[in-house]
Amino acid sequence: MPDAAQTVVMKFGGTSVADAERLTRAAKRIVALAETGTRVVAVLSARGRTTDELVAKAYEVSPRPNPREMDMLLSIGERESCALAAMVITDLGHEAISLTGSQAGIVTDTSHTRARILDVRADRIRTGLDEGKIVLVAGFQGVSVSSDVTTLGRGGSDTTAVALAAALAADVCEIYTDVSGVFSADPRIVPGARKLPVVTFEEMLEMSASGARVLQLRAVEYARNHGVSIHCRSSFDDRPGTVVEDEARTMERPLITAVTHSTAEARVTLLGLPDRPGIAGRVLSALADAGVNVDMIIQNEPVTEGRQADMSVTVPRDDLANAREALAKLQGELGFAGVQTDEQMGKVSLVGAGMRSHPGVAAKALTTLGDAGVNIEMISTSPIKISCVVREEHVETAVRELHSAFELGDNAVHHEDVTGVHRPVVT
Ligand code: ADP
Ligand code: ASP
Ligand code: MG
Repeated sequence: MPDAAQTVVMKFGGTSVADAERLTRAAKRIVALAETGTRVVAVLSARGRTTDELVAKAYEVSPRPNPREMDMLLSIGERESCALAAMVITDLGHEAISLTGSQAGIVTDTSHTRARILDVRADRIRTGLDEGKIVLVAGFQGVSVSSDVTTLGRGGSDTTAVALAAALAADVCEIYTDVSGVFSADPRIVPGARKLPVVTFEEMLEMSASGARVLQLRAVEYARNHGVSIHCRSSFDDRPGTVVEDEARTMERPLITAVTHSTAEARVTLLGLPDRPGIAGRVLSALADAGVNVDMIIQNEPVTEGRQADMSVTVPRDDLANAREALAKLQGELGFAGVQTDEQMGKVSLVGAGMRSHPGVAAKALTTLGDAGVNIEMISTSPIKISCVVREEHVETAVRELHSAFELGDNAVHHEDVTGVHRPVVT
């Protein structure tokens, strides 16, 4: 009775399939769920550091690898994992079929290396499930509307999993990873970080956008837009992890949910920009056309008579070469004095829905960083987030100091936590 059976999408990250033993463990977990009568689709990532190695190979032979060919190359890591897992599952006595992103019906736009999913034509997956098979889908990839292989940006297997869960109306999308859920800070930097039983989409969006790479930002956006419930948990044990969902089960959101960070930022400053309407728009359009994702923007209006302004933006470090190139082209047209870049920047952010109604969070955060000797280079806020750009070497200190100043750790008392899941970190 396939119609009555529940459907679950399980996604295993790179560490969870890194070697033969781990891949076998993941395959056994997939089989165990299928044996309960559940229709199982498993999305796998490339093994261990495979994607990094493939990227490095491309740069060994080309300074600016052609994006289409980059996608052809990068897509093989996920295929390898799926084919191997299908072999293990078959040996365990189950029927399994592995599919590439294209075979699985993941249709994307044509922006190579950061494609967006436009449609999911999951008929082939449904047929496989109807035939009683476990369907393995290569994460992180799709086929563009012009029939080329595309990839979905780093961490993109999370998005594949969520998109399939939405298309198949799955009961849950389980993201199995190398930590036991979403924590109040990266447990690798703050060993006393607390596992969060529930996080709202709103908070998780801010967390992912500000560097908590445990769930890819686009996956969280897709899940929110399509009402997919995510359960992020450990691939090494059976304990419940973190549920990301619309309505939090908690009575009241804590003031601060988490401290997040990123260490791969760069700052670009345009010096001596003419101070007239339309200039900032031209700069940002040029960066957008070059595919550069601008995060923070600060423009200093001239205080004195001179009609010139400075403008600083932060961009992902990987986008810096494109940003430089785009701005060099613009310099003649706009007539600004020059461009300064700083590659070693990082960012630390505080995220919490409760901060909306509590003044004083920014003051406390900035004072904490100041007391720790961390210089703040740029600041930006949203109703539920405060982000500070700091030098990369200060990021870890900043994360630890903020985590402890706002008492986010395991020892903290959290009245609003009604689920009682307080467990130490498993890495
Ligand atoms: P996978 O390969 O399973 O997709 P990722 O490396 O993409 O795993 O994401 C998991 C990692 O995210 C963890 O190992 C952890 O270091 C990091 N991380 C950063 N911030 C957080 C956070 N707030 N909670 C949990 N993990 C986090
Ligand atoms: N293998 C890809 C990466 O390393 C996608 C993923 O793991 O989600 O970014
Ligand atoms: Mg990931």
